[in-house]
Amino acid sequence: MSQGLITVSYIGATILFILSLGGLSNPETARRGNLFGIIGMTLAVLATLLSSRLSGASNLVIILVAMAIGGSVGVFAAIRVKMTQMPELVALMHSLVGLAAVLVGYANYIDPSSHLTGAEKTIHEMEIYIGVLIGAVTFSGSVIAFGKLAGRISGKPLTLPGRHQFNFGLLIVTVMLGKVFLNASTIGAGMTPLLLMTLLALVFGVHMVMAIGGADMPVVVSMLNSYSGWAAAATGFMLSNDLLIVVGALVGSSGAILSYIMCRAMNRKFLSVIGGGFGTDGGSTTSSAAAPAGEVVAVTALETAELLREAKNVIIVPGYGMAVAQAQHTVFEITKLLRSKNINVRFAIHPVAGRMPGHMNVLLAEAKVPYDIVMEMDEINDDFPTTDVTMVIGANDIVNPSAMEDPNSPIAGMPVLEVWKSETSIVMKRSMASGYAGVDNPLFYKENNRMLFGDAKKMLDEVLTHLRA
Ligand code: NDP
Repeated sequence: MSQGLITVSYIGATILFILSLGGLSNPETARRGNLFGIIGMTLAVLATLLSSRLSGASNLVIILVAMAIGGSVGVFAAIRVKMTQMPELVALMHSLVGLAAVLVGYANYIDPSSHLTGAEKTIHEMEIYIGVLIGAVTFSGSVIAFGKLAGRISGKPLTLPGRHQFNFGLLIVTVMLGKVFLNASTIGAGMTPLLLMTLLALVFGVHMVMAIGGADMPVVVSMLNSYSGWAAAATGFMLSNDLLIVVGALVGSSGAILSYIMCRAMNRKFLSVIGGGFGTDGGSTTSSAAAPAGEVVAVTALETAELLREAKNVIIVPGYGMAVAQAQHTVFEITKLLRSKNINVRFAIHPVAGRMPGHMNVLLAEAKVPYDIVMEMDEINDDFPTTDVTMVIGANDIVNPSAMEDPNSPIAGMPVLEVWKSETSIVMKRSMASGYAGVDNPLFYKENNRMLFGDAKKMLDEVLTHLRA
């Protein structure tokens, strides 16, 4: 394939990726966006495979075998993964991008066919050093994020004494090792600083994500998404592949924008997120200072159905528990039934509900809930005082009033859905357990709150039966 054709294919793929990102920004156009992404990636892979640099038959065979193995693992993982495990899978994918950048960096460094000299050699080695650095941080950070999201590592932040100084020390040593690496006259001499730096970067990645408290994980997920983009861009520089640089930069910058949006949703500072080791200054993860006390009022499915039937305005707040219970279809059946009785039903979506950005929107779209009744937090938060019944389905942290009322709470300052302002709120969950952030929720004890205990799907099925009766 001629170089000109490859360049045109790469430009075509880039345009398709940009259209894809544009499409993915809205649920109504997300399918189309996905399709653009698939076509763009197919084009990019084909053009790369047919490029002259890879045209040797043996090279192609190796690459095709590797693609078949990697592709099969990917398809197997994607088919097997439960919807609730998606965030973990995404974190794992990010780690692979980081690992790829590290491996490509080492392969590039020891490549005997590279005969660069002078400034070109220095620039290439800088690309390798930075690529391996970003890749290693992304890899180890994403592995820890995977552990935290999968519940295999505690969500509590690890707050080592002097951790900011420790991070700063790592940075200084990394810069010094970089100088030694660039001045090394042989590959053997450069390998030691490169290996040491990789080790430090891995430690930094682990330390950065370990230091982050449960409720701040959404920012970490989007930040690692961004880092993985920059790792891919770094790989593009090392391989002199323009498309990889552009795609990496697209992922890196869109991840950075998502991180900014998540920061705003969590009321955290963007710069402290980029630096890592944030999210622990707002308080401790032990129970909140104003630990709630008192009795909760439990209701039955029948009583819930009666409250709903008598309401004029209903808001449904879905959370992670709805994803666990896979209750979205029943939720929509209830919504349709209530709407047929002229009850105004809307959904309130908190930006960090669930375990990944847009988690609730995906589930509601899957159940075919119309987009025009699915509201963002800012659009609907003022409407709770005029709402008769708010149904909180498997949500906890995102409706926790202590974020507003208790300055010592670990989630203090995080904007939440003010469901307690509605006439009656009904919280559906299985027990009195806390949410992801591990914080008690005083909402449960409010006078106008009712608890409907049980699995969300099972309880909503019962509510639906009573509503139909
Ligand atoms: P939470 O984790 O705060 O609460 C979910 C609640 O669902 C739990 O208290 C649990 O209570 C209940 N639940 C679990 N399974 C079921 C079930 N089968 N039926 C009924 N209830 C169930 O979720 P939220 O959505 O309120 O908040 C999201 C949290 O996750 C925030 O802290 C956020 O920071 C964090 N996070 C978000 C990410 C994102 O990108 N969106 C990424 C990483 C973390 P019980 O066990 O009693 O049933």
